Amino acid sequence: MAKFELITLPYEANALEPVISAQTIGFHHGKHLQGYVNNLNAAIAGTPFEEMELADIVKKATGGMLNNAGQILNHNLYFLQFGKPAADNRPVGKLAAAIDAQFGSFEAFQKEFVQAGATLFGSGWVWLSADSNGKLVITQETNAANPVQKGLTPLLTFDVWEHAYYLDYQNRRPDHLNALWQIVDWNVVEGRYGK
Ligand code: MN
Repeated sequence: MAKFELITLPYEANALEPVISAQTIGFHHGKHLQGYVNNLNAAIAGTPFEEMELADIVKKATGGMLNNAGQILNHNLYFLQFGKPAADNRPVGKLAAAIDAQFGSFEAFQKEFVQAGATLFGSGWVWLSADSNGKLVITQETNAANPVQKGLTPLLTFDVWEHAYYLDYQNRRPDHLNALWQIVDWNVVEGRYGK
């Protein structure tokens, strides 16, 4: 029996339109993420990793097992942080205060975050994470890497692999990243910060 399963999205495939199309969700969640799940389940079969939590596999595995586990962890955090587009969508609670304190303003944070995603060469992810003291940090992670490998708590992530945006935005990665602010569910992100 498969150890890891494809997450169920808490919204319909077309719920994020026009920011992310139903077609992109169909391929990204239904094909790419499903592939990582299938690959990881095959890789861990009969190994001690079968008994481990996903984040622990990411911290301890290497090679293809690490790549597939990392991509599952990354995509689960990614897909579950979104909801229907909303105007003037902003952080909430103590996370909002922490963003203002660390970056000066939400707008300054958005600019720095998008810049980090736009300048990441090749495939990867841009992250907002918290360190062990609750301090916020933006990092670029290549390929399947996740901030848990650096001891950070991941809060928010934008996927900059081309499969995340090419059907809808082609080469216009910055346009895609700027549009994603409309669909971030800040209650979910705040919940990760509160843990
Ligand atoms: Mn992806």
